[in-house]
Amino acid sequence: MGCLEGKTALVTGGARGIGAAIVRRLAAEGAHVALVYRGAAAAAQALVAEVTAAGGKAFAIQADVSDSARIAELFAACDAVFGAAPNLDILVNNAGIGSDGQDASLRSGSEDLFDRMMAVNAKGPYLVTQAALPRLRANGRVVNIGSISGKVAQPFAAGYAMTKRALQSLTFSTAQQVARQGITCNLIAPGAVATDFIAALRERPGFDEGNAKATPMGRMGQPDDIAGAVLMLCREEARWVTGNVIEAAGGLAI
Ligand code: NDP
Repeated sequence: MGCLEGKTALVTGGARGIGAAIVRRLAAEGAHVALVYRGAAAAAQALVAEVTAAGGKAFAIQADVSDSARIAELFAACDAVFGAAPNLDILVNNAGIGSDGQDASLRSGSEDLFDRMMAVNAKGPYLVTQAALPRLRANGRVVNIGSISGKVAQPFAAGYAMTKRALQSLTFSTAQQVARQGITCNLIAPGAVATDFIAALRERPGFDEGNAKATPMGRMGQPDDIAGAVLMLCREEARWVTGNVIEAAGGLAI
């Protein structure tokens, strides 16, 4: 029997990349997983089919996490499957956007890109967490996916780094808000992970090799490296671990 048997989970950005790996891990441990996608409908349905074929339970819901009206619809759809609140054991705020190859620097990054990153990476988790609060069951888990960008100076991606620092702040506030219910809230901060998110960076000659060299563990992160860290926090044994920023970066930001 998996360690999350009987639990429910909601993973934003769950159709692709790190989110998909988290969905696979949680479902494999027995959780019934709601995966939220924005545009990747085909990938979402394929992942639901994959999880179901493996004997797990998952369903997909379309929503833009930066839009409060869509979030209300998202949770209504969740309630329809999970039943009356409180009905949620695990919330993973994973959806996020980066610069996707655009100039995101402090010197010349655009206001539009800054606003979009703030809306998805900071306002999104705030709104989703707010809507999830009355639904979270005692002994639940909130896991936010931040970045080591929230820790180190990054003038080449200053706005993105700010969004991930904001998510750290939300993590601390959430942890205190839900502590009396035995619910934990922590942030996992990945280093570079091989997903579409950094596709533009990886096209630069030598990026992968340079990243592996700079990483004490000698390689780039894979989505399942982050999913493993999320699962660690969701296990019963992690019940006293809350309000932390936990780097999952092979030692990159030590
Ligand atoms: P991907 O680009 O592979 O996936 C991003 C996910 O976010 C997609 O599932 C996408 O959904 C979803 N998403 C984007 N915007 C919205 C929105 N407005 N509403 C709902 N969902 C949205 O990236 P990763 O898997 O790599 O990134 C996941 C998280 O990890 C992000 O928060 C990112 O900041 C963080 N991270 C990633 C690192 C990396 O190197 N890859 C390093 C450090 C942190 P859809 O496809 O359906 O549109």
